[in-house]
Amino acid sequence: MSTYQALSEAEAVAYARKLPNLFQPDSELTSQEIGDGNLNLVFHIVEPSTGKSIILKQALPYAKVVGESWPLSLDRARIEAEALIIQGELCPDLVPVVHAAEPELALTVMQDLSDHVIMRKGLIEGSRYPLFAEHIARFLAHTLFYTSDLGMNQQEKKNRVKQFINPDLCKITEDLIFDDPYTDSPNNNVPPAIRDAVEAIWNDRELHLEVAMLREGFMTRAQALLHGDLHTGSIFIKPDSTKVIDPEFAYYGPMGFDIGAVFANLLLNYAGQEGWSKDEASRADYRGYLLGTIRDIWQRFEAEFRSLWNQYGVDRVFKTPGYQDLFMKRLLQDTFGYSGCKMVRRVHGLAQVADINQLQDEAAKERAQRIALGIGTSLIKFNRRAESIDQLLEIAGKAM
Ligand code: ADP
Ligand code: MG
Ligand code: MG
Ligand code: MG
Repeated sequence: MSTYQALSEAEAVAYARKLPNLFQPDSELTSQEIGDGNLNLVFHIVEPSTGKSIILKQALPYAKVVGESWPLSLDRARIEAEALIIQGELCPDLVPVVHAAEPELALTVMQDLSDHVIMRKGLIEGSRYPLFAEHIARFLAHTLFYTSDLGMNQQEKKNRVKQFINPDLCKITEDLIFDDPYTDSPNNNVPPAIRDAVEAIWNDRELHLEVAMLREGFMTRAQALLHGDLHTGSIFIKPDSTKVIDPEFAYYGPMGFDIGAVFANLLLNYAGQEGWSKDEASRADYRGYLLGTIRDIWQRFEAEFRSLWNQYGVDRVFKTPGYQDLFMKRLLQDTFGYSGCKMVRRVHGLAQVADINQLQDEAAKERAQRIALGIGTSLIKFNRRAESIDQLLEIAGKAM
């Protein structure tokens, strides 16, 4: 048993040395803290003599970005490790291998993915990933189906809900995604150039009503074990491989929240193409690639999810004729709504995205911010009327 303390680089090496079956006894190990997130330490431990390496991720008891004034439960490290293990059983090729987990130290030891790049960075550089749609659609279909009442023993599912009660991290989402961006909150970082558009959001009652309902869904609908933070900074990628990391926000919630996170982040990059693309032709081409990827993800997700349901659905009542179609329609509608919420908060909320914020040309950045707000608010307002994924593409196309 160990009591919690935040590890230094030297202590991370000492800890790694004690792990069984990873490194040679007494070999030299190097350690570097490489975390770029807000909430955790990430140590990259390398054994130069063999080239072997691992990642040691340790949760901090507060949010780094705000300082010790924002305490956060260390239980999220247990949740992250347990979610990674469940996701690894369902989609072994799509998450890092977990070598060890020690909840007392809020520590997860996992496969080093340094040969991949963070997808947000890859998209900013204009890379294309032809296998991504299949990979992420399969990740979504399998993790959402097999952890829901559709695809697992329904009494065990109730225990799973309890296993993944994650109040601190859910509150971050409830506040930073579904509340602060819609009011003049001190947690926002409003870019002065778009103050008019942000104030319009603060005064838009139709928008507020939809967000209130989406927030209620986030708080009350324990449909499936969500990743909970599935943006392109939580996806490691290279042409032949996709790995989803960082499920510390995992909890039982509405399935459309995870699908919406993926779409929102592709759309934020779409907005950012105002500045990243070098000319109109390449901009149109890359935007076409991003929208095509969204359509491909939804179509593959829907086909795979329905096929799992038809083959492995556990419940007779859920086979009631017409029910599956209604379920999928509501899921698409949730996906529109949550995509929109995930976009809006990244423009003027607390935590923003490099796809837009790293644009050097201020005019391009402002256009990108307005496009992202335009798409996001339209998706939120349209969510309950959505009937096909093509409508999402139309909304994105019209925002230019
Ligand atoms: P946070 O929850 O703090 O955002 P992440 O799990 O997203 O932590 O990790 C932060 C960063 O650490 C990642 O963006 C990546 O650069 C690095 N990292 C995390 N996990 C791994 C891994 N398995 N292999 C290589 N690098 C990793
Ligand atoms: Mg992260
Ligand atoms: Mg990160
Ligand atoms: Mg995280």
